[in-house]
Amino acid sequence: MKNALLYYEPHLTALKHDSYDVVAISTHPDDVEIGIGALLAKLSREFHYKVCIIDLTNGEPTPHNDDPKIRIEEAQKAAQQLDVDRVILSMPNRELMDNLSARYSLAVWLRRLQPRLVFSPYGRTSLASPDHYQAQLITEAAIFYSKLTRWEYKFKNTAPHRINKLLYYYTGREHITLTNEHYFAVDVSKYYIHKIKALEEYKSQFKSSQNVYSIIKWIKGLNSFWGIQIGVEYAEICISPTILVFDDPLNAIPKYPL
Ligand SMILES: [Zn+2]
Repeated sequence: MKNALLYYEPHLTALKHDSYDVVAISTHPDDVEIGIGALLAKLSREFHYKVCIIDLTNGEPTPHNDDPKIRIEEAQKAAQQLDVDRVILSMPNRELMDNLSARYSLAVWLRRLQPRLVFSPYGRTSLASPDHYQAQLITEAAIFYSKLTRWEYKFKNTAPHRINKLLYYYTGREHITLTNEHYFAVDVSKYYIHKIKALEEYKSQFKSSQNVYSIIKWIKGLNSFWGIQIGVEYAEICISPTILVFDDPLNAIPKYPL
């Protein structure tokens, strides 16, 4: 089935589901695929959770793409590879700022889609776009705004919705200091091919500027590095700002720990 993609907000009815188990926020189309593309594919394909990506911006303009529509089409195809839905909001690329308008706009979508779990970008990317860190701030605020009561008129008359869990993901360009955080790795080996296929859809981003295979090599190296630490081929990592729960703590032990 063709996965839904929205560009402007009025096309809400094009989405496949009324609500979603998981919403993954991406600053630009391709960030979330780089970070947790295989995990999203696993959540959808193995556990049959309803998963939707929300890109805050369309990511354009970029140096080697003449037409924003091309990036949007690539994003749609990437979502199909992962078997998730996708909404692309119209916040400004390169000028994304945490402000009230952005917070309200994203909160309306969280109230509509009612996810239990939200994935967010995480941290500063000093040599890449400053949008990424702003996206984290917007997401955290929107999660809080999502549950607010007596303010429906501020959120297009959507009902309050409490989100149970926030997890952050890395895209490999952040200051990675895995010290005091609750970070964990997920074995995504079986679904890694879907991540690679999704990334290969972004020809306007990777192929013209740098060789797409060298970008993918870098991302594979990162995921292989996490994988080696838990004894699997590929892993993606997430960071939890709140306590993690295990029914069986032995399930948290890697099969083949280093
Ligand atoms: Zn980005």
